[in-house]
Amino acid sequence: MSAQHPTDRRSPERREVVVVGGGQAGLAIGHFLAQQGRDFVILEAAEEPAAAWRERWDSLKLFTPARYNGLPGLAFPGDPDSYPGRDAVASYLTDYVRHFDLPIALGSRVRSIRRANGGYAVALDDRTYEADQVVVATGPFQVPFVPAIAQRLDAKVVQLHSTGYRSPDSIPQGRVLVVGGGNTGFQIAAELSGSHEVHLSIGSRQTPLPQRILGRDLFWYLETTGLIRKSTASRVGRRLAGRDTLIGSSPRVLRRRHGVQLHKRAVDAAGSTVSFADGTRLDVGSVLWATGFRVDHSFIDVPVFDPDRRLEHRRGVTDSPGLYFLGLTWQHTRGSALLGWVKDDAEFIAQRIDAFRPIAQDEPRAPEHVQANITGSTT
Ligand SMILES: Cc1cc2nc3c(=O)[nH]c(=O)nc-3n(C[C@H](O)[C@H](O)[C@H](O)COP(=O)(O)OP(=O)(O)OC[C@H]3O[C@@H](n4cnc5c(N)ncnc54)[C@H](O)[C@@H]3O)c2cc1C
Repeated sequence: MSAQHPTDRRSPERREVVVVGGGQAGLAIGHFLAQQGRDFVILEAAEEPAAAWRERWDSLKLFTPARYNGLPGLAFPGDPDSYPGRDAVASYLTDYVRHFDLPIALGSRVRSIRRANGGYAVALDDRTYEADQVVVATGPFQVPFVPAIAQRLDAKVVQLHSTGYRSPDSIPQGRVLVVGGGNTGFQIAAELSGSHEVHLSIGSRQTPLPQRILGRDLFWYLETTGLIRKSTASRVGRRLAGRDTLIGSSPRVLRRRHGVQLHKRAVDAAGSTVSFADGTRLDVGSVLWATGFRVDHSFIDVPVFDPDRRLEHRRGVTDSPGLYFLGLTWQHTRGSALLGWVKDDAEFIAQRIDAFRPIAQDEPRAPEHVQANITGSTT
């Protein structure tokens, strides 16, 4: 891993391509760019690759088995049918950088991206890069989201977002309300039930899917039937995209096996009491918000957003020549934001990068029609 040193702001460093973000998406595109022999750099804000995985809770188990967790060119180690933990993913991604000697600059947070000199200026605190093309791979789960009702709870109620949760020790003894009926809320509620009185508030029910069916993993079926690669352009893809799934757990199992008490959507709070959509209430000692994330593209000063600041793109390709996104949820398929399938979009973007010819600044370019995909951004 190469360390980049601050240079004079007035003399930008030039690269053909700059990749922003050193998670699985940034590394996957890095692999293809290295294969093309391209002059590029991956800029990663954190001091290590795979920063997002390192911030997840200690006991996290992947819902995808090892056989489906490999990035292009390097299989995920271990028993292909095992479900690796968080640290195994962080180690694998770090090894991936070393294995392919990818040019990653750590501790390099990008502050702005704007058009300059027919390409892009990518500014950090201490230096600027100029590039013909830029890939934004800053992750689908960036900024923790907590609903506004959290502010109405007393200071004595301990509150944390799932990103702040590590293990049951993070939560004081007593009653805890987990808010959020997705995979994160279910996994954390089950873990806490060994030591706490746990309540789970489910805002919208997600379709429960078993992890294994007739001895085979769910993703084997998704891969074999081709469902994992159904794009949002197809009817079945659009139907799948509109539905969140709960893998390997269900409200029934959580209630019966783990004794977790289930509640409707949390709609209000006052003092230490949370109210639910059916009019019931609960006094709580702690609240764990497993309420998801928002993307933050506020540092991108290029007109690729609609009036509501939602990104407009087609499979990650924007109307701004040479600006791409990678790793977004349902960027193209269900696999777009998963370890084992991000390579499909990465390869697609790499092909676009290869086919790109820089044009003179004042030369007109017919815009592509990219409105097919719109990805939400709260910024
Ligand atoms: C709880 C949880 C469990 C999951 N389990 C699975 C699973 O079992 N299997 C699976 O395949 N997927 C799983 N996923 C989904 C997905 O694989 C991960 O979210 C993955 O981390 C996404 O990779 P990414 O590279 O797109 O983004 P990230 O891993 O978020 O990487 C983005 C990187 O960009 C950096 N960055 C951000 N902003 C800047 C900036 N301005 N300048 C420079 N760098 C920046 C960040 O530091 C980060 O390292 C899970 C997700 C979550 C939240």
